[in-house]
Formats: sequence, C-alpha cells, structure tokens
Amino acid sequence: VLEIRNLHKAFGDLEVIKGVDITARKGDVVSLIGSSGSGKSTILRCANLLEDSQQGEIIFKGEPVKWRGTGLHRHPADFGQVLRIRTNLSMVFQQFNLWSHMTILQNVMEAPLTVLRRPRAEVESAARAYLDKVGIGEKHDAYPAQLSGGQQQRAAIARALCMEPEALLFDEPTSALDPELEQEVIRVIKDLAAEGRTMLIVTHDMKMAADISSHTVFLHQGLIEEEGAPKDLFGAPKSERLRQFLSSTV
Ligand code: ATP
Ligand code: MG
Repeated sequence: VLEIRNLHKAFGDLEVIKGVDITARKGDVVSLIGSSGSGKSTILRCANLLEDSQQGEIIFKGEPVKWRGTGLHRHPADFGQVLRIRTNLSMVFQQFNLWSHMTILQNVMEAPLTVLRRPRAEVESAARAYLDKVGIGEKHDAYPAQLSGGQQQRAAIARALCMEPEALLFDEPTSALDPELEQEVIRVIKDLAAEGRTMLIVTHDMKMAADISSHTVFLHQGLIEEEGAPKDLFGAPKSERLRQFLSSTV
C-alpha cells in the first residue's frame, strides 16, 4: 500500500531524516519506535504530505508521489494526488484534534461529506456504525469537551475510519492518556489490527508494539538502527542502542 524509499528531510540546516525505507503491505501493522527527536513524527508527516522532503520517494499503491513544493506552493497539477493520499492515509494524532464546536457525530461526518462529497444518509449511518465499533455510540450528540480523553481519542479513530482509508497512521495515539484510558484505545487499535487494517503506528508503548505489529522499526537520529519481527526486536535486540532504549522504556 505504502512505500517510503530513501526519505531525507531537513529543517533548514538540521537534517532529521537521513535515508529511511519503510514498506507497509496490505494488512501490515508497522510500528515505529525510537527516542524523542529521532524523527518518528516527521516520517508520518512526510508520508501523508504534511511535509515535503528533499530527497526520496513516497509510493502509494504503486504510484510515485510527486514532490513539487508544499501547501500553496504545490504544483496545481498535484493537488488531486495530494487529496488522494490524504484521504487514503488517515492520521490519528496524539492530541485528538477534534473540532470543539461540533458534536462527535458531526466530527466523524465532516470530512466524508465535505471532502469526499458522499451522500449524507450514507455517511451518517457509517459514522454511527464506527462510533458503535469504538464503543462510544451513545455519545454521538456530545461535544468533545464532554468526553474523557480516551473517548475523544476513540472518536478521532472513528473519524479516521469513516474516510474508509487504505491505511491508518497513528502518532502516539495513547501518550496523552492516563493508563486506564490508554487501555480502551489500545483495545480499539488491537481490534483494527486483528481485522487486517494496514497501519503505521508511532508509539512509546512497547507492549502494544510487541503485541500487534507485523514489523517494527527502531529509529535512531533519523536512520533505521534495527528493524524486523517484533519478537526478534524486543526478544533479542542486536543493536546496543536498541538494548539501551528498551531498558530505559520499561
Ligand atoms: P517525539 O518522540 O518527541 O515525538 P519524534 O521522533 O517524533 O519525537 P520528530 O518530531 O520527528 O521526532 O522530530 C525530529 C527532529 O526534527 C527534532 O530534532 C525536531 O526538533 C525537528 N523538527 C521537527 N519538526 C520541525 C519543524 N517544523 N521545524 C524544525 N525542526 C523540526
Ligand atoms: Mg513525535
């Protein structure tokens, strides 16, 4: 579904991604781990074109994405492609980013209605089904401020799902939550993994990464230091840096 090839990214003189390759095939759950500042969020942001890159390629469903500027500077011919990528790689952020002036149901329905222009009745029944699925169906008329953090994050996941994306990108979806609330979000993510959803997950939760990933990537200062099956990475880390990282996180 998604291939990141030889990605390089600098902010001014600061080179933060120095040649990273990540592939997510259909049904893969790829987890990205590494210490703060290692470049995990930057990779996700490059993947769905929130950032451009100096070098490298993003290939979405076999189609190479063109890098010709960002935002308003982007080449007009590329807007369609950007839209296609954004709508197909739904991102869930650490700080849920729900619209505070809309109810939960409106939050989930907004993008499918306005971006995809799907019929309202169809979007509403899908939105209700996804809210049920993440266990907050009865909260559809509440506003985000009336929900707990865990419920807000589950609403954000329902919102991402309602776009019917090819893959989900999670950036530390549980790190803003108290431990009990964390569990309810982890359960939802586990269910999605079990369903065969393609996901790229940045997480500090090594237990979740070990449980649900098909592949784990350990990033160090903008480079992949070690990667492989989670049982190998967590069970028998080869790199000294990964060993140190793992012992510092438990
Ligand atoms: P964390 O675990 O703390 O979220 P991370 O692995 O997600 O860390 P990134 O957010 O990708 O790290 O940041 C990687 C590096 O890029 C950091 O040194 C950060 O300061 C820098 N950086 C990120 N975004 C910007 C930006 N918009 N402008 C300048 N520097 C940035
Ligand atoms: Mg980050």
